[in-house]
Amino acid sequence: MNRNLSEKTGAPDPGFPKLDAIKPDAIKPGTRITAMGLGHFGGQIAAIKYCAELGADILVTDRSSDELLVDSVARLQGYPHVSFRFGQHHPEDFVDADLILVSPAVKPSHPCLRAAEEKGIPVLTEIELFLANCSAKIIAVSGSVGKSTTVSMIEHLLLSMNISVHVGGNIGNSLLPHVNEISDRDWVILELSSFQLHWLSRRKYSFEVAVLTNYFPHHLDWHGGEENYRACKQSLLRNQDVTQLAVLPASFRENGDWRSQATPVYFGNEDLAGLPECWPVHDRRNAAAAYAAVKRIGDLQGGNICWEDAASLLKDYRGLPHRMEFVAEREGRRFINDSKATCPHAAIAALRSMTEPTWLILGGALLPDDLEGLIGELKTTSILRGIACVGPTGQRIFQRLKPILSKQKKNVLCQLYPSLKPAVQWCWESSKSGDSILLSPGCPSYDEFQNYEQRGNNFAKFAKELKSHS
Ligand code: ADP
Repeated sequence: MNRNLSEKTGAPDPGFPKLDAIKPDAIKPGTRITAMGLGHFGGQIAAIKYCAELGADILVTDRSSDELLVDSVARLQGYPHVSFRFGQHHPEDFVDADLILVSPAVKPSHPCLRAAEEKGIPVLTEIELFLANCSAKIIAVSGSVGKSTTVSMIEHLLLSMNISVHVGGNIGNSLLPHVNEISDRDWVILELSSFQLHWLSRRKYSFEVAVLTNYFPHHLDWHGGEENYRACKQSLLRNQDVTQLAVLPASFRENGDWRSQATPVYFGNEDLAGLPECWPVHDRRNAAAAYAAVKRIGDLQGGNICWEDAASLLKDYRGLPHRMEFVAEREGRRFINDSKATCPHAAIAALRSMTEPTWLILGGALLPDDLEGLIGELKTTSILRGIACVGPTGQRIFQRLKPILSKQKKNVLCQLYPSLKPAVQWCWESSKSGDSILLSPGCPSYDEFQNYEQRGNNFAKFAKELKSHS
C-alpha cells in the first residue's frame, strides 16, 4: 500500500509539498532521471536500482573518477538503462531531466541542483522515495551522536519482544528494495542524518516516534551555519501531533527550541540501574532513549515493558563495531577501537568512560568543528598518560595542547605523527601493563583512510602485529 504521509497530519502545508509526487507512478518507463553522486552510499545505489526497475532511464553523474567508483558501478551491472558520466557534473544533464535523484551528502547549494530547481525539476532522495511508499509505522532516530547505537538498541529490544522490525537509513542499510514487503503491522527504525533531514525537511511528513539523542553544532560547513543545522534536527519533530511521541534529552525540557505538538518523553535523569556495570555513561543514556521509544511501542502493541525488563534484555546487547570496541589485549594493554568517534563530542564521551591509565590516539582529516571543548577535556582529565596526534586536525590539536601540557607539568606526553601506524607504535612502546590504548580520533578519517571502518580495522591489525616488548 502506498501512502502519502501528509495525510496523517491533516491538510498539507502549502510551504511543504506532499510526498505524493514520489509515488511509483511518478516514475514510469522512460522517465529521465539524473542521479547525482554515486559514491559508496548504499542508499543511492538502492534508489537507482529501484527507479531502474520501474523502467526509468538513469544517468549517474559523479565528480570522482570511474577507477574510484569501480565497486559501486559493479553493483549496477545488469541495468541496461543506467549510464554513467564521471569526473564532473554538467549542468545540461540536470536541466534536461524529468527528475533528479540526489545523494543526501551533496550540498543543496550546488549550481547544478540550483539550475534544475529553477526549471521546476523535482529533486528527491532515497529516504523520500522510501517514506512515500512505506506503509509501516516509523521510529525516526536523529541527533548529533549516538544515532546508530540507539537504533541498534531499539532493534535489539523490539526483536526480543517478538515485534517485527526493519532497520534502515543512515545506519548504512537501504530498505527501499524491500519497501513493498514491509507491512503496516511492522515497525521501521530509520536513522536520519542531518543531511537526510535537510532534504526531507522540504516535505510534509511525520513519525510515530521521533528520538533525538542529543544536540550540539556539527557539520556546520555543509549546512552553512548552526541555524540551518538546528532547523534540520528540529524538522524531525515539526509535523508530529499529540498522538505521536518525541523522545528528547532531559536538558531539552526547559528549552523552547525543541517544543512540538508531540507528546514528549524526556530521558537521561532517571536511575538506570540494571545495565552492565562496564557500560559507558553515553551508552546508558542511549539505552534510556531506546527504552522510552520501545515502551511506547509496547504500549501500542499490548506488550508492556518496564525498565527492569529492558535492562535485563540489554545485557545481551553487543555494541556495534568501531564504537568503544575492545579489539585486542597484548601484554596487559587493552586496545580499544572507537574509530566511529568522528567528532570531538564523541571523543570527549570516550575519555569520560575510561577508568584505567590511557594512551589516546586523536586526530584525522580537517574538521571545522570547535575543538575548545575537547582541549578543555584533555587538559583536565586525570586518566591520560599520553596523546598521539595524527593528521591535519591532530596537528591543530598538538599545536594548541603541547604548550598547555608543558606548562601544567602533569607528565602527559604528547607527540605528533603523520599517520596511524607510528602513533600505535609509540603508544605501545610508552605504555605499561594495565594501561589502555584508545583510538578515539574525534575527526573523520578521509586524510588517510576511505572511511572510519577502514581506520578501525587497521588499528586492530596494527595492534595485533606489534612486536613483543621482550
Ligand atoms: P552516530 O550514528 O550518531 O554517528 P554512533 O552510535 O555510531 O553515533 O556513535 C558514534 C560515536 O559516538 C562513537 O564513538 C560512540 O562511542 C559515541 N557515542 C555514542 N553515543 C553517544 C552519546 N550519546 N554521546 C556521546 N557520544 C556517543
